[in-house]
Amino acid sequence: MDIRGKKISIIGAVRSGIGAAKLAKKFGAVPLVSDSSPKDKLGKSISVFESEKIAYEYGAHSEKVYDCDFIVTSPGVPSDSPVLLKAIEKKIKIFSEVEFASWFCKGGIISITGTNGKTTTTSLMAYTLNMAGIKTYAAGNIGDAFSETTPLVNENEYVALETSSFQLDFTERFKPRFALILNITPDHLDRYHNNFDEYIESKLKVAANQNEEDYFIYNADDQYIKANLKNKKVQRLAFSLKDELPAGAFYKEGKMFFAWSGTVEEVASVTDLYIKGEHNLANALAVLSVAKLLHIPNQKIRDAFSSFKGVEHRLEFIRELDGVEFVNDSKATNVDSVWYALRSFDKPLYLILGGKDKGNDYDRLKDLVKKNVKKIYAIGSSAQKVYDYFHTIVPTEIKDSMESCVTAGRKEAEKGTIVLLSPACASFDMFDNYEHRGKVFKEAVNKLA
Ligand code: ADP
Repeated sequence: MDIRGKKISIIGAVRSGIGAAKLAKKFGAVPLVSDSSPKDKLGKSISVFESEKIAYEYGAHSEKVYDCDFIVTSPGVPSDSPVLLKAIEKKIKIFSEVEFASWFCKGGIISITGTNGKTTTTSLMAYTLNMAGIKTYAAGNIGDAFSETTPLVNENEYVALETSSFQLDFTERFKPRFALILNITPDHLDRYHNNFDEYIESKLKVAANQNEEDYFIYNADDQYIKANLKNKKVQRLAFSLKDELPAGAFYKEGKMFFAWSGTVEEVASVTDLYIKGEHNLANALAVLSVAKLLHIPNQKIRDAFSSFKGVEHRLEFIRELDGVEFVNDSKATNVDSVWYALRSFDKPLYLILGGKDKGNDYDRLKDLVKKNVKKIYAIGSSAQKVYDYFHTIVPTEIKDSMESCVTAGRKEAEKGTIVLLSPACASFDMFDNYEHRGKVFKEAVNKLA
């Protein structure tokens, strides 16, 4: 793709925007970065633009944005934001940062999408491939922006790319060597006109341009994915916790198997996997499929699975105090991830639930809460909603801070139980982000020790 001399307007001046601007400049284009945030929110970015001599504007999008050959947009910019709508009206081409970066990627792209599990799977993927000697960068939502990583990647190397549906929204030619869809459940519907079909459509774009030389790996247990498979050219594999499959990875009687080209092979045992829960087993099966297609020996896969300790804020074990374990699952920002968290332990739970509600329907958790949870501590702006829903099912108490939840858990939880932060909500009512929420939880736990 020759972009020399092209004028490119880049919307959004944070991670992806910075990466895209640097990439555009490297390949001879003339970028203008535009962000509607005020200057004081963009301090770091501005110093990069100054030192890299990249044109930028902040505070509002000026008319200059539309004087370009095409636009590259960051994932944080909603597709119906006025600046993009106006560009569409003016018939200006818009590409997502992931699409743009992919034009310059010499290595193989392993694009990982889904509602939940992207970060965990991307990390495990990069970890497993690197352990087997296949140089793999983790990029996208985790690690560096894809545009920052692209120039580093050589042929025969890979990028494990955490790809959100927002990044797939403005793709046209994006063509990963491996495309993985982990699961699809309703989330972020505010960005898709509350239309679940639109959200599904967006995720499936990951495979739209794949052909016979590529692999599409999907979750066969997910009804929404199964019902929407379209691309027939690509080599299709699936993974399943329930069914033996003719092509792909599956779980059976404590073991992980891989079937391909008419042969079925036992690759690993569930006990080889350090990270807990059946959702992580599904994530591991997705990784296993790619590892097998890249001819990584089974022993290497097992070594990677047993030594990968998971990602911070995802069912992260903090410590044990007098026989009570404290687990941080702050990244559980929707009901589905909490459903899996509740199924991941065989000990009774004291659950910290609540935060900024995204229209949660707790019916899905009802039976599991009844079975596995001894008490709920409700926090955040949705504390009353959590209380109203659950107090007739299990003892539920509204708490005014994370510290008070942890202190109560320390006092009330008996030996052999777990205090679990798995809030099912966004964090922005009380915290900067989910990392901040997890950190406050961890600090409160460590203070008690
Ligand atoms: P994402 O990057 O898609 O948000 P993460 O790996 O950060 O996914 O995990 C987010 C939350 O979802 C965590 O609470 C984690 O334990 C849970 N989770 C991880 N994998 C899955 C999965 N396959 N299905 C459901 N929940 C999952």
